[in-house]
Amino acid sequence: MYYLLGFIVLAINGLIYYFAFYSPQQQKDWETLPTLPEYLSQHPECQTEDNENARCFSCGSDKVIFQPLTCLEDPRYKHFCVSCGKRLFRSKAIMS
Ligand SMILES: [Zn+2]
Repeated sequence: MYYLLGFIVLAINGLIYYFAFYSPQQQKDWETLPTLPEYLSQHPECQTEDNENARCFSCGSDKVIFQPLTCLEDPRYKHFCVSCGKRLFRSKAIMS
């Protein structure tokens, strides 16, 4: 009985991990965002002194922050504007 329970817990964890981390929907969604160079070529006015960041094209705010797509270990980041909430571009952490 305990073995069975352990197996179920493992299976559920695996499923959660799969859907949270490798979620095809999230991946697809993420891929629709431009990369920073693409974003800057579409919105050259958003260039800032920071080579790794940009301004929001929608409201002009420079309060653009990023967060991992799913969980903290996720190397895929989405960058969005704090002021208006628009998602702006994506980036990927360099895996060490
Ligand atoms: Zn904005």
